[in-house]
Amino acid sequence: MVKKLVAAGLCAAVIMVSSAAMAADVVVTKRGKKYHQPTCALILKKETSTMDEKQAQAKGLTPCAKCFKVEEKESKKK
Ligand SMILES: [Zn+2]
Repeated sequence: MVKKLVAAGLCAAVIMVSSAAMAADVVVTKRGKKYHQPTCALILKKETSTMDEKQAQAKGLTPCAKCFKVEEKESKKK
């Protein structure tokens, strides 16, 4: 029983680490202090550039509350 739980936990950890290592590209606006999902509606009409999420974080940018919140909700459902 316990072993199974540990194995499941390890699996989840591996998945989290590998998805973090993949570092999805995020979109930043020229003057914005947030970074967005490429699909975010807030950046449609703005001048943007794409970068690594880690790069964006290194610049002190924070995730957009709109597009990243939505993603969080969806992943919790699954
Ligand atoms: Zn956004």
